[in-house]
Amino acid sequence: MNLYDLTAHQLLSLIKDKKTTVQAMVDSILSRAKSVNDKTHAFVRFHDPLLSDGTCPIPIGIKDNICIQGKLATCASKILNGFHAPYDAAVIEKIKGRGGVILGSLNMDEFAFGSSTETSAYGVTRNPWDLKRVPGGSSGGSAASVAAGQTVWALGSDTGGSIRQPASFCGIVGMKPTYGRVSRYGLIAFGSSLDQIGPLTKDVTDSALLLNIIAGFDQRDSTSVNKPVPDYTKALRRDVKGLRIGIPKEYFIDGIQPEVLKAVREAIEVLKKEGAVIKESSLPHTEYAVATYYIVATAEASSNLARFDGVQYGLRALPEKTRKTTLVDMYETTREKGFGDEAKRRIMLGTYVLSSGYYDAYYLRGQKVRTLIKQDFDKAFEECDAIICPTAPTTAFKIGEKSNDPLSMYLSDIFTIPANLAGIPGISIPCGFDANKLPIGLQIMTRAFDEETLLHVAYTYEQSTAWHLERAKL
Ligand code: GLN
Repeated sequence: MNLYDLTAHQLLSLIKDKKTTVQAMVDSILSRAKSVNDKTHAFVRFHDPLLSDGTCPIPIGIKDNICIQGKLATCASKILNGFHAPYDAAVIEKIKGRGGVILGSLNMDEFAFGSSTETSAYGVTRNPWDLKRVPGGSSGGSAASVAAGQTVWALGSDTGGSIRQPASFCGIVGMKPTYGRVSRYGLIAFGSSLDQIGPLTKDVTDSALLLNIIAGFDQRDSTSVNKPVPDYTKALRRDVKGLRIGIPKEYFIDGIQPEVLKAVREAIEVLKKEGAVIKESSLPHTEYAVATYYIVATAEASSNLARFDGVQYGLRALPEKTRKTTLVDMYETTREKGFGDEAKRRIMLGTYVLSSGYYDAYYLRGQKVRTLIKQDFDKAFEECDAIICPTAPTTAFKIGEKSNDPLSMYLSDIFTIPANLAGIPGISIPCGFDANKLPIGLQIMTRAFDEETLLHVAYTYEQSTAWHLERAKL
């Protein structure tokens, strides 16, 4: 087996046993990253990998919306052309502090708006399992790079599914931690009440290891929660006897690809055999989640993106006309040239739902429905310890298949959005393949700050199956 096919925990033990060195590992993975990047287009830029002392010197790729001091951070948008991050994000400080080797920045949908990586100003990333298909999004570069062995693990961000859905499409593990568990300091904001940084890894053990590194309180993020961080690797036990797992009936609906349904049903059987108590449960407001999300998320996005006006960050564009240019002309031209179509669509939707006269009908009502969705989960978790369902209704779709149909694109997040609205953790783990050998993802959700049960259920399933051992052949 090649070093680039291995997980972080396997590589760390090879290094400990002196069977390889950090330098040899970094060389192997970086050369893999560069040699297949023409095919996947997962990295948008490589950094000079710096080796330093630390207990976890594992190569990592970083989504292009997370600030690395002195490096470009563009959110795959033209409007941030030439913007160099003035400081490290909290997660980057933590990774550097453990000796992590940052290989480069990864492609994404522009400002994380999308589910396919097609809205990137750099062009689409391709799914390593089938280069004609999307890797999912918006952390498509993060998921594809891990699946292609271009990095050992990666960081992504998840506002409505952007870690879990691409993990599902690329056959890897992607976790969105509880809102407040990982600092958002240095993450370029999309929807501040929904955004969360999380790990994309080859298996559940690595997910626990990387969460151990990045989790924790940070006073520079006002929504970071001051709760002790457990050692998540202690949750890696194969034992779910008596654990109550809820199957929400609203997540098993018409329109789901039959192979996805079959794989998820088989996964439920696996957990049942392992001793879990399977219960039907109900999340009655699920049908409103997508609509609610596209009110709350666009409102927050339109306000967060107001700062990109040609004054402080990245691109500044002036009108071509010769007449005297005003400040407003400069703002307008910069935003017209700098933002792509999907960003403009979100800014317009968000501005509309926040405008006086529509605020009560849309934004305020959206916030109320968000509370109902959260209460659904509170109620469900009175009777079960974890909920399982598909991560996405389909496997990876073809490049271009949905790019002219925003609504059908938005619907691919139907099962991941509710966890963001409720602030709870969710993980996607591989649970099979369809007839085209495209990966299928199983989603697990638990109560807020119960990443331990999340990892525990995920680990039990993973250890009872072999899906996580499959690698895409490039
Ligand atoms: N696909 C969803 C959207 O387009 C979620 C994106 C995300 O989680 N960043 O908004």
